[in-house]
Amino acid sequence: MNSTEIATPEKPNNFIRNIVTEDLKSGKHQSIVTRFPPEPNGYLHIGHAKSICLNFGIARDFAGRCHLRFDDTNPAKEEVEYEDSIRESVKWLGFDWGTNMYYASDYFERLYQFAVRLIEMGLAYVDSLTADEIRSYRGTLSEPGKESPYRNRSVQENLELFQGMRDGKYEDGSLVLRAKIDMASPNINLRDPVIYRIKTVEHHRTGAKWCIYPMYDYAHCLSDSIEGITHSICTLEFEDHRPLYDWVLDVLKVPCHPQQIEFARLNLSYTVMSKRKLLELVQEKLVDGWDDPRMPTLVGLKRRGYTPESIRNFCETIGVGKSDSIIDMSILEDAVREDLNVRAPRAMAVIRPLKVVIESYPEGESEEFEAANHPNDPAMGSRKVPFSRTVYIERDDFQEEPVKGFFRLAPGREVRLRYAYIVKCESVVKDANGEIVEVRCSHDPGSRGGNAPDGRKIKGTIHWVSAAHAVDAEVRLYDRLFSTPNPGGKNEPDYRTSINPNSMEVVKDAKLEPSLSQANLESRFQFERLGYFCLDSRDSKPEALVFNRTATLRDSWTVKK
Ligand code: ATP
Ligand code: MG
Repeated sequence: MNSTEIATPEKPNNFIRNIVTEDLKSGKHQSIVTRFPPEPNGYLHIGHAKSICLNFGIARDFAGRCHLRFDDTNPAKEEVEYEDSIRESVKWLGFDWGTNMYYASDYFERLYQFAVRLIEMGLAYVDSLTADEIRSYRGTLSEPGKESPYRNRSVQENLELFQGMRDGKYEDGSLVLRAKIDMASPNINLRDPVIYRIKTVEHHRTGAKWCIYPMYDYAHCLSDSIEGITHSICTLEFEDHRPLYDWVLDVLKVPCHPQQIEFARLNLSYTVMSKRKLLELVQEKLVDGWDDPRMPTLVGLKRRGYTPESIRNFCETIGVGKSDSIIDMSILEDAVREDLNVRAPRAMAVIRPLKVVIESYPEGESEEFEAANHPNDPAMGSRKVPFSRTVYIERDDFQEEPVKGFFRLAPGREVRLRYAYIVKCESVVKDANGEIVEVRCSHDPGSRGGNAPDGRKIKGTIHWVSAAHAVDAEVRLYDRLFSTPNPGGKNEPDYRTSINPNSMEVVKDAKLEPSLSQANLESRFQFERLGYFCLDSRDSKPEALVFNRTATLRDSWTVKK
């Protein structure tokens, strides 16, 4: 592509896209290569989605490519299970790395050879200080560091020791390779950073071949360079590491020197996003696995019923900036509501059923009403909803002694059963404890379809399900996993103490309109007045349906709590 044919992004610009646009215009790059470099030590979360949308989005919109690179330089923690789920989540989000899937571990030999070159140039040395000594020699933000007594070993000695490290001659922790930069640098990352350590641990891909492993700052810039990355986009905490990123590539005079660009990571209120904490939640069984629908993981959000579109839209809404902030959870929840409002067909379901017998309706008879699948989208068609003498309504759509402003069913009052008839409560049946177990009604046969023949006003309309036709289901209602905006933050001893004890409610005896028995794992519904629902991908079975509530219809948090 030449400079006059620059792909114009369809998406709103951000400062990174502006840099990319400029680099294409000026001819600095002919095409763009980005990468998403997850460490395979956990499942991806909504924060990773921001990075994925940014990196893959730029590659897509500028006709470049985005690499998926497993940053598997730390042998102790990585697992194949994580790699599989990472690939699946990136694909689920709608992105494709094509043939560009890489592993940092594939570069171990090259990274080793680069380190040998650094030693030969007098720019790296083997240090015999212990980890604690290295730390104390490093100095502080206000004080310069102190040079290691081993800093001036000869090139020959360093080469031999480094070879010995590779050959397994030394104990873990006894030697490290350090870059020789500047112990007095105001940037602590440049005070002779460790670039290799001994770790006699098998790697899940390279087996026992290596017992020395490169450190992140050293491996990352070189991996970017090896892959021909043009823009290495990372989060703000790496800003102070950029001088080291550039130093390594400069001194080695590699042909490709990517530009590191930092952006603010996504922080979301009412959740945690550190992989360590997410792993603890799983291991301590505080949640039902990585894909628990309350988790901020992509597999959790998927199981909860979030669509990839809603997550991509969310990432676009929040934008890409340079200063850290906390995004309110309600913005994510609004994104899924907005998407599902458009795409989810409507259906009727009763979560806490109260039986209503319509005494004036003939026993054994039934009829069907035509119900629109979407109020604003006729193209989504309609379905038939059966009606009969006994229906279920929500328990809280009836009040024996109605409070002021309650316009639904109450003794002597009328209410509209959506699509069907106007009914009037004639009496109630109570059990031995005085609990209402049944409401007896009459109906206005002239109100078929919902409107009173004499035009009288009916204030309340409620949803219902015919008892004879109802499909039973379990319904899981979720709330935020944490009840404070910043779990484990100020005045909270531990994030675990802010876990919301009511974050999941299981309702066993919900009643659904029969069309819902056709639901499949791709289906999304708006259960009228209750929210958006999908089948639970793990536990739902055709003979025992389990629905998850993805979101309520409105944001109940900002008003309620
Ligand atoms: P942790 O620090 O919890 O171990 P991580 O950020 O190191 O997680 P990685 O697997 O290294 O996790 O992340 C892969 C990529 O995703 C990195 O490029 C990182 O910058 C990006 N990323 C991770 N978390 C966020 C976030 N909250 N917002 C934006 N990008 C993120
Ligand atoms: Mg990381």
